[in-house]
Amino acid sequence: MRIIVLGPPGAGKGTQAKLLAEKYGLEHISTGDMLREEVKRGSKLGNIAKEYMDQGLLVPDNVIVEMIAERLGEGSMGKGFILDGFPRTLSQAKALEDVLGGMADIDMVIYIDVDDDVVVRRLGGRRSCPKCGAVYHIVNNPPKNDEICDKCGHPLIIRDDDREDVIRKRLDEYRKRTSPLIDYYMKRGKLVRVDGNKDIYCVFSEICIHMDKFFKSSAMEGKE
Ligand code: ADP
Ligand code: AMP
Repeated sequence: MRIIVLGPPGAGKGTQAKLLAEKYGLEHISTGDMLREEVKRGSKLGNIAKEYMDQGLLVPDNVIVEMIAERLGEGSMGKGFILDGFPRTLSQAKALEDVLGGMADIDMVIYIDVDDDVVVRRLGGRRSCPKCGAVYHIVNNPPKNDEICDKCGHPLIIRDDDREDVIRKRLDEYRKRTSPLIDYYMKRGKLVRVDGNKDIYCVFSEICIHMDKFFKSSAMEGKE
């Protein structure tokens, strides 16, 4: 199964993608996490990406497409994959189809629809583990021990781009460059919308209903 999770920054894409990957045995591929790894390693790609990320801008399409094509070309995807944070522009969406060999190869695009004020509150309270990538929220999903990762014990951080001025720019980029993808995938019959304003497990159950429906209908098609 090949899934894309779409939505504004702070919608809960990473949170839901991790839960889905665990439940359905899918590979979670986050371009944001991949870029942060490159920045940490101080690679050439990381240095280029950091310039854009720190300003809340999208990293250029050619850089992202090359990175994701390489990742998808590595194979070992288990039962499939969940793309989190990619594509983010129409040009990336088209490049993805070239890499996969057509739109038919994307099974579902889950659009997590969240109000702007909710997004701002979520990003303002996000805490991330720089070691294992776990994500928390100081109010909605706090770690058991203050500012320490439950999973690996590493101190949590506030992401450089979760500052108020950068958040505003990221939302701007989302509206201008990423939100046209909602219509793009809707017209192609791939989009399911979920209400992302609800709590983490309500959103997760809503997504699971769509996932299970998809598996049921593919199994029925297989039998005919
Ligand atoms: P994205 O990957 O879309 O940027 P994240 O998954 O990192 O978003 O979530 C952003 C923040 O909001 C995190 O601090 C996370 O713990 C919190 N969060 C995610 N989903 C929900 C939800 N449904 N309700 C409340 N808080 C949430
Ligand atoms: P994320 O972790 O998904 O919120 O992404 C963090 C930042 O990484 C974004 O604000 C962009 O600067 C960059 N980024 C991640 N994915 C992409 C993408 N598909 N295209 C362009 N830039 C991206």
